[in-house]
Amino acid sequence: MFEALKPQPADKIIALIAAYAADPREGKIDLGVGVYRDDSGTTPIMRAVRAAETANLQAETTKTYNRLIGDAAYLAAVKPLAVGDTVDLARVTASQAPGGTGALHCLFELCKLARPGARYWISDPSWPNHEAILRHMGLPIAKYPYYDEATGAVDFDAMMAALDDVQEGDIVILHGCCHNPTGANLDLTQWAALTTHAALRGWVPLIDLAYLGLGDGLEEDAAGYRSMVSRLPESMIGLSFSKNFGLYRDRAGAAIVVAETPEDAGMAEGALAAINRLNYSFAPHHSAAIVATVLGDADLTADWQAELKDMRERVTGLRVALAEALKRETNSDRFNFIAEHRGMFSRLGLTPAEVETLRAEHGIYMVGDSRMNIAGFHPDDIDRFAKAVAKTIR
Ligand code: PLP
Repeated sequence: MFEALKPQPADKIIALIAAYAADPREGKIDLGVGVYRDDSGTTPIMRAVRAAETANLQAETTKTYNRLIGDAAYLAAVKPLAVGDTVDLARVTASQAPGGTGALHCLFELCKLARPGARYWISDPSWPNHEAILRHMGLPIAKYPYYDEATGAVDFDAMMAALDDVQEGDIVILHGCCHNPTGANLDLTQWAALTTHAALRGWVPLIDLAYLGLGDGLEEDAAGYRSMVSRLPESMIGLSFSKNFGLYRDRAGAAIVVAETPEDAGMAEGALAAINRLNYSFAPHHSAAIVATVLGDADLTADWQAELKDMRERVTGLRVALAEALKRETNSDRFNFIAEHRGMFSRLGLTPAEVETLRAEHGIYMVGDSRMNIAGFHPDDIDRFAKAVAKTIR
């Protein structure tokens, strides 16, 4: 029967990883896959994660099944981290999920149960897996324009104009902070305008929160979406700890629901537990226990926050250095937006042919839409990179 299968489209980022690995050139630069790297090019295990993992190994007494909805200590720590003190926690429920992808998948399934017929609005462009998962699930997709290539900023007027077609009950997926792939983010005024629009038109936001703390700070990054969540009766958050805890392969995430009433939250919790049962029964415990231990201990939390700050500052420092080098080498302001953007990514705004020239002639690897993982740079790479870009666009 397997001969009936069609070849799957290659995942562009995974293909890029393989091409980079096979490139024998010294000094090649990998700006492809979206993982944080330090100055030595490693994706580190964070200090607090290592300490919590070691402590948990000693303290663990059983590997028996946990609750379907997820580990109680984990979920108790995760809810306030996501929503702060903006809503009564009795209205908030959450289920443990394997990473942010798992969380989004659970929330899409929840929406499918609660709102059959809803359309799912995603930004254009967005993280490609949004569209891929929704398609895989057979859910209807609509897109709103998001990014203005000319200014490097959010094209908010175009976004709002498109959202005028939203119907009551539709789900609008918003990146909570650090938009992937553009790096351009909504400001507080724009979040407020979207909130008013949602309240008037009855759409429900689903916040994809994969980079909390990697933009301007934990509280700063949360301010916009939390203000929205606090003013609306219903919203959802798909949380990932892959990047901000560095738990990529261990898979920790949460599907969070803010319901209108505690009773509705209870119904959502029952549905989320049932969805877990149908998909994989229990989400992986190891990584969730690490997060729970870190967030449950003041010293470990402080150390996690300090290391997250260092990571964030490394990325913002690289952004400033990159924008300066590109300004110098191209003798233009064209790339100034890189310093304004936040999070791990920006799109350079090159054509696919220019991206290919950078790869072929200079060993610089980025996604075809010219998305760069800023954390992939070593400070010593920046001058060479800027010179290569200047030569390519000349
Ligand atoms: N959402 C966005 C926007 C992302 O960029 C990612 C990862 O790259 C995720 C969700 C999911 O992350 P994970 O499933 O690895 O936790």
